[in-house]
Amino acid sequence: MENVCTTEKVIRETVSVCPDCLKDVPARVIEKDGCVYLHKICPEHGDSQCLLSKRPDYYANLDRYFFSVMQGEFRQRDYLIRMTEKCNLQCPICLASADSNQNEAPPPVPDLELKKLCEFMDSRPGRQLKIDLISSEPTLCPDLPQFMREIRKRGHIVSLHTNGLRLVDINYLQTLKDAGLDEVFLQMDGFDDDAYMRIRGARLTNTKLRVLENLEKLNVATSLVMVIMPDCNEKEIGKVLEFAKNKAFIKEVMFLGTRALGYFRDSKATLMPDQVIDLVYRESGLCPREECFSFNKLYFALLSFLGVRKCLYVQHNLLIRKDGRYHGISEYVDWKRVEPVLDDLPKAQTKWQKALWFLRLGFSLLSFRSLSLLPDFFSLFIRLKLGWNLHYLPANPLLIGYITACDPQNVDRQIGCFCGKGELANDIGIHESGSEANIDRERWWSERTKRRPRQNDPSCQ
Ligand SMILES: [Zn+2]
Repeated sequence: MENVCTTEKVIRETVSVCPDCLKDVPARVIEKDGCVYLHKICPEHGDSQCLLSKRPDYYANLDRYFFSVMQGEFRQRDYLIRMTEKCNLQCPICLASADSNQNEAPPPVPDLELKKLCEFMDSRPGRQLKIDLISSEPTLCPDLPQFMREIRKRGHIVSLHTNGLRLVDINYLQTLKDAGLDEVFLQMDGFDDDAYMRIRGARLTNTKLRVLENLEKLNVATSLVMVIMPDCNEKEIGKVLEFAKNKAFIKEVMFLGTRALGYFRDSKATLMPDQVIDLVYRESGLCPREECFSFNKLYFALLSFLGVRKCLYVQHNLLIRKDGRYHGISEYVDWKRVEPVLDDLPKAQTKWQKALWFLRLGFSLLSFRSLSLLPDFFSLFIRLKLGWNLHYLPANPLLIGYITACDPQNVDRQIGCFCGKGELANDIGIHESGSEANIDRERWWSERTKRRPRQNDPSCQ
């Protein structure tokens, strides 16, 4: 008789969180039934698992490469500043605790004082930071321009994360720009008002279009952040990319899967980067998976070389806008030449070996096709090194992001310690890893409300 037991392959041992009691528990990243799961065992609440990927080869190989190059401790240089819990929307998918008049609201958290941010920045001298003004809606803080002036005064990057409602007023946007605003991360979930109703609780298409017009008029470097809700706005992916094709002020499009954080509890609707990669390719025909694999290897290698933190739950690809259409990065890069060099990075231990490795990488990237892109490549590399200020990014490349936040389901402590964002907040203080901050906030919240965090886990079938 044939053995019908499903085989289980361990990719990595790690530490995660029990979704029931939110305590740290031992966990394994495993391949099972053609999927990758984060499997955990809580002594009190038993087994639980979170789907990480439906592409086991991709996941296992990228995971292996990530940990082979991300060695040692990299200093954080990018911080989310949670300014307020006020918001002018009530999104059903809210990952924060905006406007605590919903059910199971935590106790109110006062707005962050400017003094606290100044102390925070002054305690981290000697390097340029990216300061992300976020949560829940920073434009509701009357002293936002003052915050920006203080950040700019210290030479840091001023980044605003917003739903954009207040940026309909171009004079207000101009005020922020005059105060030092470098870049805007605009929530942009597509052009379908029915989808907006489900995701944001309001019809927002016209508002978003007007805000984008203002951002273009004032030439504010912009990152579009699109939350993808399964069976809701997937069809908008292609339209958002189409919109960004001829707009030089748009420097990035980030596709974000929802997670069970804040008010959003439906873990059946959550997505990991691997699933988002498939959706983006399906809807746009852009950025195939093999290319994503090679590009992420290159990206992680460069980040490791420069000592920049970035986690495996944030993946990327690069599109080039030229002659009115998109070109995949594979049109310019011969991965067969580049990948063997990337694979050699872990062998380079000394400063000289690393310098030599970098030279080899440069040569492997050089080709007749890539010559025209050299200035752009160089400019992107300099930005990676000095600080990812969208304002100084070249016009043709468009960075694509496949992102997920860490929640009690998917959190992997080994990945989380490379989190590319730290956090300053009034409720739970300072964290060097946003991944840890998310879990601490869930704990803080569950201690103060009767809410139970656990939801059924999505399965592969
Ligand atoms: Zn437990």
